[in-house]
Amino acid sequence: MSRYTGPRCKLCRAAGLKLYLKGTRCTSPKCAIERRNYRPGQAGQNRIKPSEYAIRLKEKQKARWSYGMTEKQFRRTFADAGRAQGNTGATFMQLLERRLDNVVYRLGFALSRQQARQWVSHGHFAVNGQRVTIPSYRVKPGDAMTAMPSSRKFVLDNLEGITNPPSPKWLLSDRANLQGTVVSLPEREDVDTPVQELLIVEFYSR
Ligand code: SF4
Repeated sequence: MSRYTGPRCKLCRAAGLKLYLKGTRCTSPKCAIERRNYRPGQAGQNRIKPSEYAIRLKEKQKARWSYGMTEKQFRRTFADAGRAQGNTGATFMQLLERRLDNVVYRLGFALSRQQARQWVSHGHFAVNGQRVTIPSYRVKPGDAMTAMPSSRKFVLDNLEGITNPPSPKWLLSDRANLQGTVVSLPEREDVDTPVQELLIVEFYSR
């Protein structure tokens, strides 16, 4: 299945909460969740009792939409988590957080994950001094992220006047110089994506 390219605010409305997919608009009164907090479509305001399956599907979709991934990528990451030792749900969230596009966003070098994905694939960032153009690249402790020298002005111009939320404790960010470091692997409490990973595990294990 290809990547969703339709209106992103509809995804938030379908999920029933803010997924922060559109940068500064998400914190403004223009946010669709602030104005129309009900499901999109003609029957959006009708009350329905979701089935057990629908509850788990929605939880999985919320996480997938948040990270802007296709179903195939998402399922593959889940399979990686299943093969790793430890709690599958927690490992899955950790693997999602370690994606380079997410790390660029969480360091405050882009306004949304989608923008981070685009900038990474356009070659604006380097990991340990090497240009990396793969948004799904998995970072590890000790990795250093920087903007490519030729992209510094472009990135800084786009971030001018914008205050990003503080980076999580597993990342060290020097936004003024567009330099970031992975201090440790993310713990579950460092992941602020509003999902219950247990329901996602149940969805894929059915
Ligand atoms: Fe979601 Fe952002 Fe649109 Fe609000 S503005 S509905 S948080 S994508």
